[in-house]
Amino acid sequence: MIVEMNKGASDEQVEHVVERAHSYGFEVQLNLGTEKTVVAILGGNTGKVQTDVFAVLPGVESVTRVMKPYKLASREFHPRASKVNVSGVEIGGQRVVVMAGPCAVESEEQLMETAKGVRECGASIVRGGAFKPRTSPFSFQGLEEDGLKLLSKVKTDLGMPVITEVLDTPHIKIIAEHADILQVGARNMQNFALLKELSKLRHPILLKRGLSATVAEWLTAADYLLAEGNRRVILCERGIRTFEDSVRFSLDISSISVIKHISHLPIIVDPSHAAGHFAYVPSIAKAAIAAGADGLLIEVHPNPEEALVDSLQALTIPNFERLMAELRPIAEAVGRYI
Ligand code: PEP
Ligand code: MN
Repeated sequence: MIVEMNKGASDEQVEHVVERAHSYGFEVQLNLGTEKTVVAILGGNTGKVQTDVFAVLPGVESVTRVMKPYKLASREFHPRASKVNVSGVEIGGQRVVVMAGPCAVESEEQLMETAKGVRECGASIVRGGAFKPRTSPFSFQGLEEDGLKLLSKVKTDLGMPVITEVLDTPHIKIIAEHADILQVGARNMQNFALLKELSKLRHPILLKRGLSATVAEWLTAADYLLAEGNRRVILCERGIRTFEDSVRFSLDISSISVIKHISHLPIIVDPSHAAGHFAYVPSIAKAAIAAGADGLLIEVHPNPEEALVDSLQALTIPNFERLMAELRPIAEAVGRYI
């Protein structure tokens, strides 16, 4: 339930609403806007309580029952678009933020060469998996802690923020020590134990859309991250499974418009995992920016032939450079810049 206070409602009136919510055993989250205060009333069974018990209180303008399963990620709760600052790089602002790097961290040379290359082309954040979610247990699982150390080295040597995936709760602490953004992969979007632990952090979290998750399920998963007060959540559309098998996943371009309409969270797009093939990455990336995405997450490898993971979808550094040049006028055409 969302309780919107009148403009100029007093602190006592807000407190009265909070007390009443607590008397029913509900949790509250306050959004103190410049114009008015919005109180989100949270709890599994708010549906059993009449909206009137809040509407009748002094200072309350309106009470809306939120039928949607997500609350904190919704625009109703937080009308203005959220921006997430990642070590000085703002995501959700006018600038389109490009994160690029290898699927997996493989060696210092590979990571450094890629990071330097993508930085020169205008990327501002380096990606690289240290713990890899592989379909087969016999595939390369990542360099794990050694991979994290290499990411830290990139951060120190090149001054670029880094993003890497967190696969499991026991790894959170060490990953948070090395990474600027913790990525929750598509296969973990509904790993609620992981999401709850990440909600206790104050690090930026990138939440990928599950392979077969609806937008509502995705935003409800984002609510888990927001529930304990972590406000720094970024969404990432990376394609969903459909009957179409000419690409790895079907990129749901319309989810960008939907998310922008119903949520305040920034959304970026990963064209690489959707395409599954380097030849399709540029056009999908361009479409994403044209559709209003706040950024891109792109796989780049200095020598895709040698890549240990996702070699077919990796762009070479020259291909990435060409794409960045092609993206700039598109960003400008939609009032952004790269
Ligand atoms: C990745 O970004 O390396 C990755 C594994 O992506 P996804 O979770 O979208 O499959
Ligand atoms: Mn990959």
